[in-house]
Amino acid sequence: MGFFDSIKKFKNQLEQVESSVYSGSGSLLEVYERNAKLEAEIAVRTKELDRANKQMLTLQHIWDMMNSSKPLSSVLNAIVNSLQGELGYLYSFIVKQKADNDGNYLQVVASSRDDLGMKFFEYFKCEVTDYRMHFPEMEELKNAISTNTIYQSAELVKLVCGFLPELDEAKTKAFLDKAKMKSYIFVPLVSKQTHFGSLVVFSSRDTLSNSELNFLSLFAKQIELAITIADLFQAVKEQAVTDGMTGLYNRRYFEEFIKKEAIRSERQNQKFTVIGLDLDHLKQINDMYGHNYGDIAIKAIAEVLKNNARSIDVAARMGGEEFNLILPGVDSAGGCIAAERIRKAIEAVKLEKIGHITASLGVATYLEHSDDIDELLEITDHAMYESKRNGRNRVTIAKPARQTSWQEIAINTFVDILSKHRIPVDESTSNMLVQKLQEMNINNEKLYQVADALVSTYNPEHIEGGVKQKVQIASLLAKRFELSKESIDRLKIAVLLYDIGNTMLPKGLLRKKEPLSEEDKLSIKQHPLIAAREILKPISNIVDIIPIIEKHHENWNGTGYPANISGEEIPIESQIILIIDSYFALMENRPYRDALSREDALKTIESEINNKWSEKLAKEFIAIVQNDLG
Ligand code: GH3
Ligand code: MG
Repeated sequence: MGFFDSIKKFKNQLEQVESSVYSGSGSLLEVYERNAKLEAEIAVRTKELDRANKQMLTLQHIWDMMNSSKPLSSVLNAIVNSLQGELGYLYSFIVKQKADNDGNYLQVVASSRDDLGMKFFEYFKCEVTDYRMHFPEMEELKNAISTNTIYQSAELVKLVCGFLPELDEAKTKAFLDKAKMKSYIFVPLVSKQTHFGSLVVFSSRDTLSNSELNFLSLFAKQIELAITIADLFQAVKEQAVTDGMTGLYNRRYFEEFIKKEAIRSERQNQKFTVIGLDLDHLKQINDMYGHNYGDIAIKAIAEVLKNNARSIDVAARMGGEEFNLILPGVDSAGGCIAAERIRKAIEAVKLEKIGHITASLGVATYLEHSDDIDELLEITDHAMYESKRNGRNRVTIAKPARQTSWQEIAINTFVDILSKHRIPVDESTSNMLVQKLQEMNINNEKLYQVADALVSTYNPEHIEGGVKQKVQIASLLAKRFELSKESIDRLKIAVLLYDIGNTMLPKGLLRKKEPLSEEDKLSIKQHPLIAAREILKPISNIVDIIPIIEKHHENWNGTGYPANISGEEIPIESQIILIIDSYFALMENRPYRDALSREDALKTIESEINNKWSEKLAKEFIAIVQNDLG
């Protein structure tokens, strides 16, 4: 009998009792007996009602879930959990029919979270969802799918071992018995007129009543609806250009827009500015007042952006609490003014409970800081993070990407070497240099001063400004050899560091007046290796610079050290360092000879063509020293 039929019958009985009581016919005892019967009936019906009520609530719950924008997997998981939790089934899961190059298989897309399921899949030592299940070789199930009908059976072992053929049947039976599982219900799921997969429910009862099977069918319909809605949602989302919560543009639109803007910008030679913005301390707001207030803060930022944007500006919510603004035709000066105006406007907002909020901003301009969109967004982000680091609620203008990266690496490397005492420089000098490096505002001059100071600790002949000249010659040479920007950057860093190993040489060895012993020569020859291996190796961001330094004493004809490699085997960056280093050494006093004039030094360079360096390198070098450096 259906659930609604039972209620009808119950209602009829109630009417009969009522009429007999009020008609006065029948004895009191009769009435009492009828009442007692009725009470029993009520108890049974109440139980049924209670169950129906729970079923209704479950469906209501699923409906609510489907209306939220949660991803399908979490909706399906919530569905199977409610099935098991509120309605007392032992275990349930949803499998999806899948296929790849290795054939058809079933994937668990949702499973009720309980001890039983966990224990079961512990057996496989893997995530349930990773497991490729087989479709059981069972006609009954194939039938159920083709006729789209529900199927109930007590043959649990057959089903489970059908899904997972590697299971041992006896062990599986023992497991299912222990879990008090008596039967399963298999419900095919259809979405958009095609078979999607199945819902499988395990019960502790031998058979389920028809009304319960009806309910499970209804339940499966809800799952199908959830799947269809999720698909539609996805399709709509893929077309959407605005963010639902704030009404600003979304990331997808932003990314398309900035690409087009870059093309337009180049064609018309007109800059545009990107402002990156991140709400400060949102986590604290969430933690203190709840997620709803966090959302209110996010919406408040969106309002400020809308109010401050011109009609041609694009304000987008990139996700979470992160926003980007594109200001077409605006350079970095204008961008900073706009960013500062936005910062002030955000600071001025006063929200209920939360009070004032602040944001950190970064500003970067296309064709000014970078002419590559990805790089532009990256440096905008770096600038925004610098605002965070410096105390939040501020605007930071980006550093031009092309000029900064190698200097930043060099600064970090020097700080690392000095503060971790990787070289034996006395404490006060190293503290002073570290301080200088940390105060540095990515400034070439100061970086060269630190490099000069370090060279001076082992080379008293070193002249102030020497490192800067070496870097200049190196990059001019690199351009003649058409090196990429990346390898020119590596070369510049290597020029700052190539002789750092000399700091490890025995004190006074380089200044020794008497002729060097064989042992002395050997230890001087070791310095590139010492430098590369001992000092620089622990510093991860310069790994690709170490090989350049290691080979900067290899000669073109193979007579150098330490590897005796020759010709093109020697990296061009190392060849460049060798010629520059030799030239500067020739122009310095040595205990065994006086400094050479520039002309004589260049003559020596020329005389070593094909021995120490190639003809091309020497010619280019001489040309640069004579022409470019005046
Ligand atoms: P900071 O000043 O360094 O940016 O601190 P923060 O707390 O804002 O940043 P953090 O990145 O540590 O944490 C961001 C938090 O924002 C974590 C995340 O849960 C929360 N969040 C992300 N999106 C939303 C959203 O849409 N609404 C709400 N209420 N919170 C969100
Ligand atoms: Mg934040």
